This record gives sequence, structure tokens and C-alpha cells, in this order.
Amino acid sequence: MSAVIINGNEIREGILADLREEVAALKAKHGVVPGLVTIMLGEHPASVSYVSLKIKTAKGLGFNEIQVSLPENISETDLLETIEKYNRDDRVHGILVQLPLPKHISEQKVINAIRPEKDVDGFHPVNVGKTLIGDTTGFRPCTPAGILEMIIRSGINTSGAEVVVVGRSNIVGKPIAAMMMQKGPGGDATVTVVHTRTKDLSYHCRRADILIVAAGVPGLVKSSWIKPGACVIDVGVNRVGEKKDDKTGRIIPLLRGDVDFEEAREIAGWITPVPGGVGPMTIAMLMSNTVRSLKRSLLLI
Ligand code: NAD
Repeated sequence: MSAVIINGNEIREGILADLREEVAALKAKHGVVPGLVTIMLGEHPASVSYVSLKIKTAKGLGFNEIQVSLPENISETDLLETIEKYNRDDRVHGILVQLPLPKHISEQKVINAIRPEKDVDGFHPVNVGKTLIGDTTGFRPCTPAGILEMIIRSGINTSGAEVVVVGRSNIVGKPIAAMMMQKGPGGDATVTVVHTRTKDLSYHCRRADILIVAAGVPGLVKSSWIKPGACVIDVGVNRVGEKKDDKTGRIIPLLRGDVDFEEAREIAGWITPVPGGVGPMTIAMLMSNTVRSLKRSLLLI
């Protein structure tokens, strides 16, 4: 039997519709809207398209969206000063700096410079720590928060489930593992994290009731590695070529996930496609974190 396809675009639209109403209600009652600053250095093509989507989404929700484009050769000191300016600005509730940064700038220093209360990306060590200990006053990073939201909204049981996470990055693998081992909804799972030094990757994947793959290797996970009926979340976004867009006729990147989708969907119980799976959820969770930040600044939560 073919797997249920978890549609990230559909889930995102539901989340955004709720946020739009919440933003309108906050504006009507308190006279404020969420302020989100996006700082981008240079013009990395993948970053430009991601950032323009963030801006469009934020504006669509009624945010005060501030886009700061800085030259790629800006000094670290100048970048840190720009961040500090927005740290002190009460109209700003979320600050994010688009990664990766040029080599002459320390990514960790930049992340550390954002006030944890405005770190809507959830990368500041304070928020990383809160995610690990299950302190809900922090911001959880957007991609793993989106993955968890998809799992919960799809009605997949996580309590006692064997979860296998492929990849141990700070932005996906480690935080999703931490989140799913917490007590409570979307948690209570038995989590295994596998990576490049793992001895037998396929052995672990085959045990998984929920398999989360964030390796960045196209087609890494074969259908024979999937337990029948498992939930497969494919986080990988790999550019494997180009194609002509059916609607616009423009040349667009051809994307593939880390899972062999066509074969895996015949074995899995649920599966996320690439594109249209985890990807759309990340921006939705960023918007959700920014609304939460505003509500916290108003002492509503
Ligand atoms: P990363 O390169 O920082 O980490 C990849 C991890 O996978 C590493 O821990 C590595 O040990 C592991 N890995 C790599 N090859 C492996 C192999 N052959 N066997 C076992 N483990 C292996 O990447 P990341 O930032 O975590 O991103 C992973 C993928 O997810 C990328 O394709 C990225 O584009 C995608 N991504 C998507 C979103 C989204 O919003 N959809 C967000 C973040 C990342």
C-alpha cells in the first residue's frame, strides 16, 4: 500500500492562517505588530530566494518586515553593531542573520550577539540549552520545530516510538533528537542519532518507527532500509540539476531529498516529499516564533 504523503504546503497554510488572525487581533488590542529583521550579507542565490520568501510571508501576515542587505566584505565589528542596534529597538521582536556567513566572520560570535529573547531562529546557546532541557520559554529552531509539528498534526504516535535521526548537525539532527526525547506531546520517543561514523547505517534505519533523514546526500536512504509502515521525514534538499518550470517556463533547480522517494513511498506508512515537505514548514515556524516573541514582550505568555 502506498504511504500517506505529508503535505508541508498544506500544513504551512493552516499555521499561517492562524498566525494571520493572531497578528490582526494583537494589532487591534495592543496596537503593535511583530517586527522581524532579516540581515543578509552579499547575494548568495539560495539565500536570496529563501530570504525573499521569508519577506513575502512576513508581509502577508502583517508583520513589520525590515530587510537589511549588507556588503559581503563588511567587517565583523560593523555587523555586530548592526545587530546591537536592533537588539535595542523595541519595535523589533525577531532578528535573524542569514547563514552561511563569509569566512572572515565568526558565525558563533554573530549568533551569540543576538539577544536570546529576539533569536527567533533558535540558534543562540541559551535557546539551544532551553531546547535540550525542555524549557518552553525559549525558541526552538525552526526546521526541527516544523518536523515535529508535521508529525503531531499527522497523528503519528511518538510515545515509545523508535526514532532514528540520520545526521547530527546543530540545526537539524541534534535539536530534533533532543525534542523527541522530552516528555510530552511529540516526545517520549527512544531516539538514536546516526552519522558518518556510524558502523551500520541501514541496520539502525530498519528499526525506525519514525525515520528522520537530514544528511544532505541525495537518495542516501534506500527503500530496503525502511520498516514497513514507518513514518519517513526527508529533510534533505539537494540540487541535482535544473528543469523548466511548467507554469512560468523559467529554469529552476531540480531538487531531490535524501530518501529514494518513489520506492520508499511503497513501503512507508507516511512520507514527506521533496520539495513540498519539510521545506515549507521552516518559514512557518519562524513566523510562529516571531509572534511568540511579540506576545512575550507584551507579557501575554
Ligand atoms: P550538515 O551538513 O550540517 O549535516 C549533515 C549531517 O549528516 C552530518 O552530521 C553528517 O554526519 C551526516 N551525514 C552526512 N552524510 C552521511 C552519510 N553518508 N551517512 C551518515 N550520516 C551522514 O547538514 P544540515 O544543515 O543538517 O542539512 C542536512 C540536509 O537538510 C541538507 O540537504 C540541507 O539542505 C537540508 N535542510 C533542509 C532544511 C529545510 O528547511 N527543509 C533546513 C535545514 C537543512
